[in-house]
Amino acid sequence: MNVPNYLKKTVKVKLDVDEDDKDKLLGTFRQFNRSCNKVVEAGWNKSGDKNYNKMELHEETYRDIKDELDLTANLVCSARNRAAEAIKKVVQGWSNGKKASKPQFDKYSSILYDKRSATIKDRYCTLSTVDGRIEAEYVIGEYQKKHLDDKNYEFRSCTLNYERDKDEFYLHITIRKPVLYRNEGNVLGVDLGMKNIAVTSTGKFLGEDMRWQKNHFFRVKKGLQGKGTQSAMRTLKDMAGRENRYTENKLHNISRELVEEAEKHNCKTIAFEDLKEIRDKDEKFNSRLERQLHSWGFEKLQKFTEYKAKEKGVEVVRVKSEYTSQTCSKCGHTEKSNRNGSQFKCKECGYEVNADYNAAKNIGTRALPSDKSSDGLSHGQLALKSGTLNPTAA
Ligand SMILES: [Zn+2]
Repeated sequence: MNVPNYLKKTVKVKLDVDEDDKDKLLGTFRQFNRSCNKVVEAGWNKSGDKNYNKMELHEETYRDIKDELDLTANLVCSARNRAAEAIKKVVQGWSNGKKASKPQFDKYSSILYDKRSATIKDRYCTLSTVDGRIEAEYVIGEYQKKHLDDKNYEFRSCTLNYERDKDEFYLHITIRKPVLYRNEGNVLGVDLGMKNIAVTSTGKFLGEDMRWQKNHFFRVKKGLQGKGTQSAMRTLKDMAGRENRYTENKLHNISRELVEEAEKHNCKTIAFEDLKEIRDKDEKFNSRLERQLHSWGFEKLQKFTEYKAKEKGVEVVRVKSEYTSQTCSKCGHTEKSNRNGSQFKCKECGYEVNADYNAAKNIGTRALPSDKSSDGLSHGQLALKSGTLNPTAA
């Protein structure tokens, strides 16, 4: 199935701006944000209901702003949109019980540019200012070059930021390209668990050391909390940051390895279990705390994997997780006592194997199409340690 979908990225580039152009840009910042504030005034002064209707705000403010300031029509509209959205955000926040007050734009809040107000090239851009258009080259590294040179990406919009402390301008360029999902290929099943964070149907065990490291963090934190001193509190704060970075980094690595494994086995699909379901089930977790900790991590891992897989044209699906740990991946027999901790032994056929690996195969099998489609394409087999297996034989 070809699902039209886009891969979106934001590339941050520093601009090489000379002194003259710098003044023009700073003037543009001041006027842009001034007009944002003017639109907010118009939308906010209405007694009772706040107005964030873009058309109405346009009617009300466009002429005045255009007459008073030197902004181009496009930037006036962009400022109006930005202000309207800021008001909308506050009003929506209120209905969700959030406290928020009238939006206010700082002199140097960022400017939104679109295709008409900015031209984005591979190595430079041109931007509308209050005094004509300026051209600025990028100061970039390999990462930015790689994306800007990829002709499949198209420019969508960008935000110009002025970093006052450094006195530098940065452009955050949003680009996108269509994802071409693979038509043919196999399915990689992935089981998420406590001991090994991820186990694949191809027999790869990932993230075994994470539990140990997490426990280590937990013990140290507990010790520090007991102390209650100021320096202990500071260390605790540092530790929280370190733990977050450790976890993110680890999950990124695991997701990268999952996608590599899928590519290696010529897969078009990576199948996970649906987290909404396992959250309600205790069989995987020893305690509520573990469940909370890990469902958070699992969600991130699935998202990271989905994003990285997209880049390779591999889709991520989620299947029902019910009985995946109690069912024999060889004969299909389901019985609770088939599983004993980390071991799986089928009461029916005697198949004996690591329990997470058995579950990974079941998850993968569930993502296989139930019948052969009529389009003549191969819709995949389950990727296993040694080659593939037909769903009927699995
Ligand atoms: Zn069996």
